Amino acid sequence: MKFNDIIGQKPIISNLVRSVKEERVSHAQIFAGPEGTGKLSIAIAFAQYISCENRSDNDSCGVCPSCAKFEKLIHPDLHFVFPVFKKGKAGEVISSHFIDKWREMVAESPYFNLNRWLKKIDVENEQGLIYAAEANEIIKKLALKTYESDYKTMIIWLPEKMHHSTANKLLKMIEEPPDKTLFLLVSEEPELILPTIMSRCQFIRIPLINTKDLTTAISVKFDMPGPKAKDIANSANGNYLKAVSFIIEDESRSANLKRFIDLMRLSWLRNIPAISEWSEEIAATGREVQKRFLTFSLEQLRENYMLNIGMADKNLGFLSDKEAEFATNFNSVINKKNIAPLADQFSKAHIHISANGNAKIIFLDMAINVIKLIR
Ligand SMILES: [Zn+2]
Repeated sequence: MKFNDIIGQKPIISNLVRSVKEERVSHAQIFAGPEGTGKLSIAIAFAQYISCENRSDNDSCGVCPSCAKFEKLIHPDLHFVFPVFKKGKAGEVISSHFIDKWREMVAESPYFNLNRWLKKIDVENEQGLIYAAEANEIIKKLALKTYESDYKTMIIWLPEKMHHSTANKLLKMIEEPPDKTLFLLVSEEPELILPTIMSRCQFIRIPLINTKDLTTAISVKFDMPGPKAKDIANSANGNYLKAVSFIIEDESRSANLKRFIDLMRLSWLRNIPAISEWSEEIAATGREVQKRFLTFSLEQLRENYMLNIGMADKNLGFLSDKEAEFATNFNSVINKKNIAPLADQFSKAHIHISANGNAKIIFLDMAINVIKLIR
């Protein structure tokens, strides 16, 4: 990972680069800040920069043998420690048991939080921990001579999740560091780290990503027009993860609207073969997607009814521009007589889907009742 791959954070990066140039890289540093700000990326890019065989004034080269290994997180002098979870009667668990998943996760996007990581290792409802057994692993890894670089780098992601005995052993290592070792601690809750560790590390506060940088990144990565990207960046408040979740939410809303319009149009036309195809399509998606569609449809029905009886405000309640556009004509179809039985159809489908019923039958049945109700 190059510094150039990081969203914003230019002042932090230039300070790190300067510390390398002036040969005053502190052997233990804490990068602390809220989620979605790129702390982990900065730590990896920093280690890559230090190890690069052909670094420029402001970034690693990205192509030398060292960079090539860093890009895949397989450099023998780069070590990771992160929270994991012990399942059932599993023996001692340590980070290296999960290193392949970790590499995959970072390759997908280095911006993730603990929940996303625990989901990745299939323990999403558990507490991730850095177990006591990790301490000996760290000692073992750092006792090795460096293979290829001047430095061994140990990146500890979320040191606040560390077992106290591991934290105490880590403290000793930071006090008397093995030769040429760099500890980079990446923390979201630095107040939970042992104060004795904190006091021996250089503390670097990673701020929220500024809106301008976040806007540019969103607009490029998601191929989105500037004003829309700016809107999202503003609401995400410097958190890239939040920005991404807003974008996904928005996409799922558009997909739901399309489905809703298709269903209503086909029902109006009484096009049974196409309705049957529509049911098969939605039945092929996941239950969560299906439930979201049904909830979305209930909202649309309610807003259209309010519009029909003249109760909606000027902004058409909660509707987006595209939803409002469809509602302009569609609202005349949703009236006092059919609103309750229509809503009932969608609610019943939601209950049956939640109870793991057969989605194909549930949606086809619902659609046929919609045909009867809207004309
Ligand atoms: Zn390089």
